[in-house]
Amino acid sequence: MKREKKYYTNYSRSNSKKRDIHLPKRKRRKSARFNVKKILLLLIIIACAAGCFKLINAYRSNEEAKNKTKIEENQVQADKKKSQKVIGQKEDAKRKYGVDAQKVWNALNTYDYDNGGKKQVFLTFDDGPSLTNTPNILKTLKDNDVKATFFVIGKSLKMNGAADILKQEYNEGMAIANHSYSHDYKFLYPGRVLNMANYTSDFDKNAQLIKTCLGFDFETRVYRCPGGQISWQKTEPLNEYMIKNNKASIDWNALNSDAEGPKKNADQLYQHAVESSKGKNLVVLLMHDTYGKEETAKYLDSIIKYYKNAGYEFKTLY
Ligand SMILES: [Zn+2]
Repeated sequence: MKREKKYYTNYSRSNSKKRDIHLPKRKRRKSARFNVKKILLLLIIIACAAGCFKLINAYRSNEEAKNKTKIEENQVQADKKKSQKVIGQKEDAKRKYGVDAQKVWNALNTYDYDNGGKKQVFLTFDDGPSLTNTPNILKTLKDNDVKATFFVIGKSLKMNGAADILKQEYNEGMAIANHSYSHDYKFLYPGRVLNMANYTSDFDKNAQLIKTCLGFDFETRVYRCPGGQISWQKTEPLNEYMIKNNKASIDWNALNSDAEGPKKNADQLYQHAVESSKGKNLVVLLMHDTYGKEETAKYLDSIIKYYKNAGYEFKTLY
């Protein structure tokens, strides 16, 4: 035993092979088994580490894929929202009642009121919303289950409470159109000649105000010149502007005369509207829902019934 110990202690640790040679057979086998065990353990540890590393990597790439999908989904939603701009009127009402304003504009410009034999009336109200007459007009429209187009002006819209009425018009399926901010003839048409820069700045200002009331995804293509485009000179650039910007400048081809001449009562308004609609399948009827137009609110029910009995469909402009 003493000799064995001596052998063992005489050899350095780095010289283990040589050392084992001098060990007895049984001891050498034990040492070899111990080394195999150590190698196996090391291999197991390496395998475990590799497995863990693989798992972590798989988890990481799974998380990355999830995040990527989430970002892509958000992008799709954002794009969808962008393409979901509201043009002129609520979608469901537009599908049922809406007519492309550019087509109506063309028909009015060419005095083509035959409309392919189809009887259609567009009730249009200018200069509102008013706190006095617009709510009554909306009630009559609702009671008769018909829609109209409201040509709003900024001057009316900025008054306290008017934004809520505009929202009501929109929520009840009415079409919303732009009739300028100022309604100021001298600013828009100095010397009776259209000033394009003043026109665009004034209409843009109103468009922004409408957006602040109805939401920034809303815009309207339908414009109407205060006083009617036909009343002013050198309006050709306006036509180019409308075509270039996919908008339409709509006047009218019938009216109840609630803004012309002496003040009229409800019966007289009715007679004027009926008279100016005669012989036309396509009727764009000019009316006003602003302050002082109580007789228009009163006569509305009777003129709606007249068009219904005459077989007209009620349409809106978008
Ligand atoms: Zn007006």
